[in-house]
Amino acid sequence: MPELPEVETVLRTLEQRIAGLQIMDVQILYDKLIEGDPQEFCRILTGQTFRRFCRRGKYLLFGMDDVWFVSHLRMEGKYFIQRPEEPLIKHTHAVFTLSDGNTLRYHDVRKFGRMKLYPGDTDFTDFHGLGPEPFSEEFSTAYAVEQLQKRREPIKSVLLDQSFAAGIGNIYADEILAAAHILPMRRACDLEEYEIGRIVEQAGIVLKQAVEAGGTTIRSYTSSLGVTGLFQLQCLVHARKTCAVCGGEVRRIRLGGRSSYYCEHCQR
Ligand SMILES: [Zn+2]
Repeated sequence: MPELPEVETVLRTLEQRIAGLQIMDVQILYDKLIEGDPQEFCRILTGQTFRRFCRRGKYLLFGMDDVWFVSHLRMEGKYFIQRPEEPLIKHTHAVFTLSDGNTLRYHDVRKFGRMKLYPGDTDFTDFHGLGPEPFSEEFSTAYAVEQLQKRREPIKSVLLDQSFAAGIGNIYADEILAAAHILPMRRACDLEEYEIGRIVEQAGIVLKQAVEAGGTTIRSYTSSLGVTGLFQLQCLVHARKTCAVCGGEVRRIRLGGRSSYYCEHCQR
């Protein structure tokens, strides 16, 4: 599942490739992809130009002439930019013909991704109950202290809660806690203020590093690979057998139905 850095990478890759291009035609091959009426979706988007590229949590927000085109990739959604003569493959669910002659194609094996149009004046601040963006000023230690003292579940579960912070998923929650030296199973309300400060600080650092690593992906983008935003991340603990910092054994437990990785030596 793509998390904040991957979605940001997809967004910036598409911005480089399609900013300023007009949509000449839209073909929807799987109706449930669209929230709302698929025919309306096609009618409204045809003739509109990709002008702004924004992100809220894991949602891609494309600012068109007078609407927002919002896309969520969910588990496995991918965009491809291909020549129109290239054959459609089985899981291509949407084809946007662009004014430069290329097509933007949306591909989704699991079919969980969704697209929806919103009015041009939509305020995405409170979008789907999402909490503050981890890079924003609102995501401060004061905010986190106030939120976490009310929460009795493990800190890892709170980091995954999109209403606490937008865009953090399983991989980065493990990595943020490893970098902050905090064990994932500790109850959020038991954390000291200085520990919460470290989590907030490391959330910014870890996600920023991942976004920068994604920058390499943008430069090496080829249309045959699709715009997935996935890249080789140097993890400290996630999905590792040994800790990248101390070399000690990494432990794996289930927390809230998700695998959690941590190092007993580095995390308290
Ligand atoms: Zn370690």
